[in-house]
Amino acid sequence: MSDDNKKTTFSFQTEVGQLLDIVASSLYSNREVFLRELVSNASDACDKLRYAALTDTALSQGSEEMAITLEIDSKAKTLSVADNGIGMNHEDLLATLGTIAKSGTGAFLEALKAEEKDQVGLIGQFGVGFYSAFMVAERVDVLTRKAGEAESWFWSSDGKGEFTIEPGNRETCGTTVLLKIKKDAREFLEEIRVKHIIRTYSDHISFPVKLGDESLNSAAAIWVRPSKEITREQYTEFYHHTAHAFDEPWHVMHNQVEGAVNHTTLLFVPSTAPFDLFDAERKSHVKLYVNRVFISDTTKDLIPTYLRFLRGIVDSQDLSLNVSREMLQTDPMLAKIKTSITKKVLSELKKKAGKTPEDYAAFWGNFGAVLKEGLVEDPALRDRILEICRFASTENSALTTLSDYVSRCKDGQDAIYYIAGEDAAKIQQSPHLEGFRAKGVEVLLLSDQVDEFWLQHVTEFEDKPFKSITRGAADLDKIESETETDDDKDEADSAGLTALIASIKLELGDTVKDVRSSKRLTESPVCLIADEGDMDVNLERLLKKHGQLQQGMPRVLELNPNHQIIMKLAERANSDDAKSDDLLTDAAHLLLDQARIVEGEDPLEPVEFVRRMGSVMARAL
Ligand code: ADP
Ligand code: MG
Repeated sequence: MSDDNKKTTFSFQTEVGQLLDIVASSLYSNREVFLRELVSNASDACDKLRYAALTDTALSQGSEEMAITLEIDSKAKTLSVADNGIGMNHEDLLATLGTIAKSGTGAFLEALKAEEKDQVGLIGQFGVGFYSAFMVAERVDVLTRKAGEAESWFWSSDGKGEFTIEPGNRETCGTTVLLKIKKDAREFLEEIRVKHIIRTYSDHISFPVKLGDESLNSAAAIWVRPSKEITREQYTEFYHHTAHAFDEPWHVMHNQVEGAVNHTTLLFVPSTAPFDLFDAERKSHVKLYVNRVFISDTTKDLIPTYLRFLRGIVDSQDLSLNVSREMLQTDPMLAKIKTSITKKVLSELKKKAGKTPEDYAAFWGNFGAVLKEGLVEDPALRDRILEICRFASTENSALTTLSDYVSRCKDGQDAIYYIAGEDAAKIQQSPHLEGFRAKGVEVLLLSDQVDEFWLQHVTEFEDKPFKSITRGAADLDKIESETETDDDKDEADSAGLTALIASIKLELGDTVKDVRSSKRLTESPVCLIADEGDMDVNLERLLKKHGQLQQGMPRVLELNPNHQIIMKLAERANSDDAKSDDLLTDAAHLLLDQARIVEGEDPLEPVEFVRRMGSVMARAL
């Protein structure tokens, strides 16, 4: 590079600027976490170099021990964190310490804007990583040299929008982060304070963390220790470090598995949903180690995508150390580990669900939608997944299992009824439910997008088919009701409806597929349903929303034969001058539009809707 000797000034990416403002302005209740972040980065850097040296022996540093070294200079008011890890070159510096590559950053900043009062909590969830240094430092200098490269670089910033990069002089690879400590943060220049922080947050780091000649941590991988020797706090610290998370883990699973493939797992289920949970990539975040050497945190085929909420590590001494990440992915041993982990996790979840249903409901709220993807992706384990699925329903304020639902089925009920929609609160109000409620027939309320998807694959449970109550006929007649309803009267009423049905059909033409008398309505006059062989209403809506469907199928308009409006209209339709009755034609359109509005859709022609409404009102007045 020709301008190697020059200092160049760069601006932070807009998002970094925003983040730095927040970091500087929020009164961070525990600013000390900056040290955990820097030590965590140093540890990651050592992990990366150790892995790189496996395949490129030129990078190995001979006998030099990998370590993280802290130094306090109370005269200069500086604290530094140094590592002899992978280091960064010019390109890396620009890509990492000037931008935020983290997925979900946009969403996070949006959430921050929306929720100004609770910024601190949110920052806690997101983790500001390296930038947290600016909570305690008025200037941050980074001197770094990438392993295998000759040049080193000096990065510096006061965290106010810009940073500079210039050539530096560093003899060996690695990174030193030097903080010029702010006046109000001088506590971080005290040895005792620093030691305490390291012991609190970074004991589990598997490289020695040193201050002076003293090693402050146990520097052994936590997962090789027996679980009874590890405290809840230690697990949590490790979770924070390895997952870049800040919440308490909802569940910790630590297992040393001996068998076809020996491996150790230390896995965590978070208690809050990570920001990138529904990213298109659906990446796994579990880190793979071979014999305590970090290999990769993006290994495909280690964890099924429907368990991507898991965090933590998998370590196996039976995998070959000397293979590339790509080759590792086709290692049959890895597939065995994956199967073993999957079964273990599902059985742990089942245990939790049985023992602490309320606690499990919290998990389900966070990750149920992800887990249900497994119903499609993992047919071999479908039954096990179904067992731990939970559903909202009309009869129960708590979530229900499918078996419990089936055990509550009424005599003559041969289907598992459900209604699907995007908004849980809205579908509860749906007119389609009326007849089912009246007969005491329970209906599952499905409001995750994935529901439409798995229902295409899982068509029955304990010999009962799943049936949408917004599609096809409502076979409520066969089901015995608790309170006696006048079923016989229905027939007579339907007969009286014939003329009205004919008149509405004539008026609406192709906009509806059919007009029928309804069994599923008790209070509302009308509703729309999908015809038996057609695509269900909610699925159609979803596909349209995602641009995968242009035009939906016309639906069936159902009339409630016992509703005042319908009965009166039927009378008029049977009278002699029905043909010239404007009210009947207006009513046909208004009824259709009503049914649409209830489902959250617009009237077909808003202007006409208003005109017809006006004319009907005028007549009534
Ligand atoms: P995260 O650790 O979650 O990736 P950070 O903000 O803590 O986010 O760090 C951003 C990036 O900067 C890291 O991913 C890494 O690439 C780089 N980095 C930070 N510190 C170091 C270091 N000591 N050695 C090498 N790279 C580092
Ligand atoms: Mg970090």
